Amino acid sequence: MSSRELAVLGTASQAPTRRRNHNGYLLLWDDEGLLFDPGEGTQRQMLFAGVTASRITRICVTHFHGDHCLGLPGVLQRLSLDRVPHAVDAYYPAQHRDVFARLRRSSLFHDVLELRERPVEAAGTVLQAAAFRLEAQPLSHSVAAVGYRLVEPDGRRMLPGRLAAFGVTGPDIGLLQRDGRLVIGDRVVTIDEVSEPRHGQRFAFIMDTRLCDGAFALAEGADMLVCESTFADTEAALAQEYGHLTARQAGRIAAESGARLLVLTHFSQRYERGDEQQLADQAAEAFGGPVVLAHDLERIPVPSRHPAAESAESAEPSGRG
Ligand SMILES: [Zn+2]
Repeated sequence: MSSRELAVLGTASQAPTRRRNHNGYLLLWDDEGLLFDPGEGTQRQMLFAGVTASRITRICVTHFHGDHCLGLPGVLQRLSLDRVPHAVDAYYPAQHRDVFARLRRSSLFHDVLELRERPVEAAGTVLQAAAFRLEAQPLSHSVAAVGYRLVEPDGRRMLPGRLAAFGVTGPDIGLLQRDGRLVIGDRVVTIDEVSEPRHGQRFAFIMDTRLCDGAFALAEGADMLVCESTFADTEAALAQEYGHLTARQAGRIAAESGARLLVLTHFSQRYERGDEQQLADQAAEAFGGPVVLAHDLERIPVPSRHPAAESAESAEPSGRG
């Protein structure tokens, strides 16, 4: 199983259907779990999807329409009930602190969760961690909305054969990674001699919006782009009026931003009767790359690193720090 994958918890916009729950997406990214837009029923969908509340380390809400946030009360209480031992950070548009506060306190429970609120005040980086940064950009919807992207910095992949040839073993590998150079006997080994460039991966999450600069910025170079595609071409006027994308527009964002995999979701219930494939087809006409029409409870692996950086794919030594 990939250590970076998207667990799809729900894919319906506005109203759930027999086959589609309200939104909900848990991005499993190494030891982090980022829960995006938990709609109603998210807690139970997590059970079906085989992911526990303890996997959640961060919650990212794009906006406070119900299909994107009514699952928050249940998820927050579950995190508390399960006594998850770590703090959970919550990101959401700062304009609606009051709504978040109401959802947080919407029922009575013994609250032991360490929840750290991180309202998004402005475009840009909202979290800088060692392993990645999380960025937000404003979207164009009928209420304040932001999209998110996770950006892993470029790094270097250690090459076991080279390490062995230079006699670098055990804890020395970590020292070499930390310092960029290491003295072995009477010579200096540099990191460039025993490793190769490794592209950082990017994940982008774009929900309710019209076409806008923020959406294109978020999608830039994304390995996986999860994008709302509420409507088909025939409903393009509705999309514009209500602040949504058509599938073709989602395809255009992916194409113009150089995304690698486009995951479509957030479908209008009008396509419930077997005519949803048109959404994938219309997106594919604009994009040209792979398009996945998301289904509830699917797990979609983040594509492996960019092929250009895969030339000497090899296991990383255990000394990786
Ligand atoms: Zn909305």
